[in-house]
Amino acid sequence: MSNKIKVALAGNPNCGKTTVFNMLTGSNQKVANYPGVTVEKKSGKCHYKDKLIEVVDLPGTYCLSAYSEEELVARHFILNEKPDVVVDIIDASNIERNLYLAVQLMEMRVPLLLVLNMADVARKKGLVFDIAQLEKLLGVRIIETVASKEQGRDELLGAIVQSWQSKTPMLATVRYGKEIDDEIKKIRQIIEENHLPIADKYDKGWVALKLLEQDEEILKACQSEAVAGAVEKGAKYIRDIFKDEPEIIIADRRYGFISGACQETVKSTTIKVRHDISDIIDMVLTHKVLGLPLFILLMYLVFQLVFIIGGWPVLLLEHFFGWMGQGITNIWPTGPDSILLSLVVDGIIGGVGGVVAFLPNILILFAAIAILEDTGYMARAAFIMDRIMHKIGLHGKSFIPMLIGFGCSVPAIMATRILENKRNRLTTIMITPLMSCGARFPIYALLIPAFFPVRLQGPILWILYLTGIVIAIVTAKILRHTIFRGETVPFVMELPPYRIPTLKGIVIHTWDRSKLYLQKAGTIILALSILLWAATTFPKIDISKYQGQKLSVQQIQQLNLTHSVLGRAGKAIEPAIRPLGFDWKIGTALIGALGAKEVFVSQLGIVYSLGNEEANSHTLQTTLRADYSPLQGLCVMLFCLISAPCLATLAITTKETGSWRWGAFQFIMLTAIAYVLTLIVYQIGSVLELGNKIIGV
Ligand code: GDP
Ligand code: MG
Repeated sequence: MSNKIKVALAGNPNCGKTTVFNMLTGSNQKVANYPGVTVEKKSGKCHYKDKLIEVVDLPGTYCLSAYSEEELVARHFILNEKPDVVVDIIDASNIERNLYLAVQLMEMRVPLLLVLNMADVARKKGLVFDIAQLEKLLGVRIIETVASKEQGRDELLGAIVQSWQSKTPMLATVRYGKEIDDEIKKIRQIIEENHLPIADKYDKGWVALKLLEQDEEILKACQSEAVAGAVEKGAKYIRDIFKDEPEIIIADRRYGFISGACQETVKSTTIKVRHDISDIIDMVLTHKVLGLPLFILLMYLVFQLVFIIGGWPVLLLEHFFGWMGQGITNIWPTGPDSILLSLVVDGIIGGVGGVVAFLPNILILFAAIAILEDTGYMARAAFIMDRIMHKIGLHGKSFIPMLIGFGCSVPAIMATRILENKRNRLTTIMITPLMSCGARFPIYALLIPAFFPVRLQGPILWILYLTGIVIAIVTAKILRHTIFRGETVPFVMELPPYRIPTLKGIVIHTWDRSKLYLQKAGTIILALSILLWAATTFPKIDISKYQGQKLSVQQIQQLNLTHSVLGRAGKAIEPAIRPLGFDWKIGTALIGALGAKEVFVSQLGIVYSLGNEEANSHTLQTTLRADYSPLQGLCVMLFCLISAPCLATLAITTKETGSWRWGAFQFIMLTAIAYVLTLIVYQIGSVLELGNKIIGV
């Protein structure tokens, strides 16, 4: 290891860079010009312990784009001379603006050190820094100095030697939002595929970022049609969605990153003069006391919107599928008893239609979430929730997938991609199915009115949703202390400026997610519907055996069911579920619900052999009331809420975690929790005769 360390000083004009330079090098310096340009180049040397430190004072810049000579000189020096350590001097009294350059240096992935100079001025302004936290958030060592008084010299020199020795920068990654991150990834891939020489020289991610920013110098250096094409396409996509140049959006996101980092680490003891509109809105929306209630209110409005506006089109779709089934039955050439007809109408249209009918709810929910995201509010919501989520060992961002989980676990689990930390992400994936999804709603809608008087219906529903959330919190806490133990690595919660969303952006975001829902209906639900239909239909009983006995259509259906694969499976698991208060009929419906939760309802309908004419929920509810107690009803709902998520969820868990083991773990863990809790509730409830007490009989 040589003992010479090459250090570059970067910073905004007037941050005290030259003063730091003088503090480090004393009189040991020389002045020249950078080759080819008229910008002054100052360099000097100093000794620290046994090291020779060579310092270069770069021209002061706000930015590292290719617009001015100073910027280019600074950038070329850092990129091509490859200093061992880049020290970015920051005027601490103006930290937000000064960090913009720091973020750009982070993007270049160079070995970086930050100096908060003018610490005295900052103190006078009433600024207090949580340096340790800021260091963690940015992944950079930070030294405070007052260069004009030579304070902090030794600490800075020590830190320079240390970061030179460790070599590996632990820099945090700056994120620019899904769209831009995706485009950068695409461009980066094309750079790699085409083996561009520039890719060996500089950080590939940085090159891709600069290309998307339309940096002329890098564009020229690439000289590749493929890259130019990808850049043009990416830029157009961004322009389309945000109605602005990628460069502007990227700058916005950098400020969002900085703003988020400072919100958490810089406190002002004097009243700050705000002028930015985003700041003014944030004063209210991220307010310590008001923030959470406002957020809960907003969520309440969204859920109301989902059900109030979504209610009618859902009904319309249900009617449409009913009408379609009837129409097909009427024109079926081989008559209404055809097996094939039963497959088409009961199996496919019934199964898939039952799911597609909820599309209006889903569209509204996703559109509302897209609007909240695109305006920048979601980032604030995550910011507010961060404090609460930290208490259960999760990150504020975990809360977004959990929220989506109330709609459907599948897109929710995909949304955990925003979580960088693996343990955090796994924990969130495991507990997301406990957010009562839209597919469980039909179960509640059937069972609650069947067993509970009107005055209790709302509260019971509320308790169910709440139970899911509480179990999720407890489970997360336990998981974070056992198999997913580990420190929560803090990182910056970006606070991008508020924007008026574009229609196109909202449509794209809404559609991207809804598409998944429809895909689920068209693939998994379709296959399952056919499978379950077959399992409840075959093997058929030999009707001739019962000739002589006058059996009603319903009795025949009932016999058929006990004889079928699913009916037998229900009987087989009956001993295991009897302690929970369930019989084999509920068992068959539970097996059906493994495929998709909403199948529970239609399956129970078939079990109770309600022929097509009478198939309305009122008759089914009357039958259920006669057969089961309210306690049993409650236990069924509790079990459906907690137990193994549907197959689609298990599939997506497997896909997103990259291992079927996590899917199996999720299945077993949730089913075990459901079993134990339902057992406790049923057994204690039976002893106390709770079921009847609830409804006041
Ligand atoms: P440069 O443009 O970044 O090279 O900035 P200079 O080094 O020329 O400093 C600009 C002014 O800030 C000078 O008047 C310095 O004396 C002053 N200055 C530099 N560092 C500090 C500091 O830590 N505290 C205070 N109060 N003034 C400083
Ligand atoms: Mg200077």
